[in-house]
Amino acid sequence: MVQTTDAVIVGGGPAGLAAGIVLARVGLRVLLCEKKVFPVDKACGEGLMPAGVYHLRQLGVGVEVGFPLAGVRYHSPDGSVATGSFRSGAGRGIRRTALSRSLLDAARQHRSLCILENTPVQLEQRSPEGIEVRVGGERVRTRLLVGADGLRSGVRRWAGLDQPRRRHWRWGVRQHYRIAPWSDCVEVYWSRLGVEAYVTPVAEEQVGVAFLWHRERRWAVRGRPLLPSLWAAFPELAQRLQGVPAVTAARAIGPLQQRSRAVVADGVLLIGDAAGYLDAITGEGLSLAFAQALSLSETVAPAMQAQTPLVSRQALARYQQMTSALMRPANQMTELALLLSRFPGLCNRVVRAFRADPALFQELLAANMGMQSPWQPPVAGRLFARLLLTLPDGFLQGRPGAATGQ
Ligand SMILES: Cc1cc2nc3c(=O)[nH]c(=O)nc-3n(C[C@H](O)[C@H](O)[C@H](O)COP(=O)(O)OP(=O)(O)OC[C@H]3O[C@@H](n4cnc5c(N)ncnc54)[C@H](O)[C@@H]3O)c2cc1C
Repeated sequence: MVQTTDAVIVGGGPAGLAAGIVLARVGLRVLLCEKKVFPVDKACGEGLMPAGVYHLRQLGVGVEVGFPLAGVRYHSPDGSVATGSFRSGAGRGIRRTALSRSLLDAARQHRSLCILENTPVQLEQRSPEGIEVRVGGERVRTRLLVGADGLRSGVRRWAGLDQPRRRHWRWGVRQHYRIAPWSDCVEVYWSRLGVEAYVTPVAEEQVGVAFLWHRERRWAVRGRPLLPSLWAAFPELAQRLQGVPAVTAARAIGPLQQRSRAVVADGVLLIGDAAGYLDAITGEGLSLAFAQALSLSETVAPAMQAQTPLVSRQALARYQQMTSALMRPANQMTELALLLSRFPGLCNRVVRAFRADPALFQELLAANMGMQSPWQPPVAGRLFARLLLTLPDGFLQGRPGAATGQ
């Protein structure tokens, strides 16, 4: 016997649970399957931007847990420091397990949303009658399959939406330490080695430390255990945390960049990291996933009203457009940040420019949250002008030896 439902969501991470809440709210019958047991943990910097906090409230999710964040602080390889405060609202440092619990509590309020844990979904076949999957030994036919199954999405591959080529080969790892946070910002340390460290306060007595690095900079870490070699790139930070007990095991993941040809196909929709991911360097993945989920009430709910057994790709076109529009500014900011990670000299200058003009840093943080493009003429022009001011005397005249790269 085949069970039927309106939507099957593969994955109970932040994107899947948020999508489940929105689809259930518009009256659809939804089955969500998570292959792990809740609460689900994951390698993540755990810095939720103010936009993400706002989206969580819209989803009806309590955000009292975690640690309030006032902004982001950059430490350049030459030791310069610049702080960008969030323009509106506070962000939140929040353990993934706490976020998973809060989302799950909110999702469980919806009667038409059935949530199964410890239940991997096997994808079987697509026909004009719907998409058939196998869930815990049962066959289920659905009008819409939502791929919320993360970076290495099986749904993306199965639906032929995978785009295997990538430009960036980067990996990430994170671990937590029992220490009172010394800052109310996400502290980002850039190094000369193509490795960055991110410290996020997540509780009164806990910080998370995440490292991200480029594959071609592996020489910096080769031949040594992963974490000690990464710590070696940040001696000051290492000294601060010397002797502080780790409270979680290290979790690593990569390559981070994952691309999709499109985020919709006949009967299929991708959301969160499954829809494509560039890098964790600017920490907007969670906010983007929630924004995509919230858009479903406008972009997908009308398409589901047609009562066709399989929702067509054309009917999902608005979701495709909305997702591209949401991802564009964040990806532009991420590319900009990736440039800094490759060129320490440029990074030093940008951090000095931000220190001289904190409002500019604030504008770019807003761009990262999708509120504007970083290439808007006033913002880009100001950044360019500030960078010119950080050039050493004589650089523009080409005086020999004037430009030191610092
Ligand atoms: C090192 C690092 C640091 C980061 N830092 C930040 C940050 O500071 N701020 C921020 O906003 N974002 C950050 N991100 C990004 C953020 O972690 C992701 O964008 C976010 O987790 C995406 O959520 P998701 O639900 O799409 O995917 P995931 O969280 O990966 O969830 C996918 C879920 O699908 C499940 N699943 C997979 N296959 C199946 C299957 N066949 N059946 C059932 N279930 C399945 C998995 O078990 C998993 O629970 C970071 C990422 C990394 C790697």
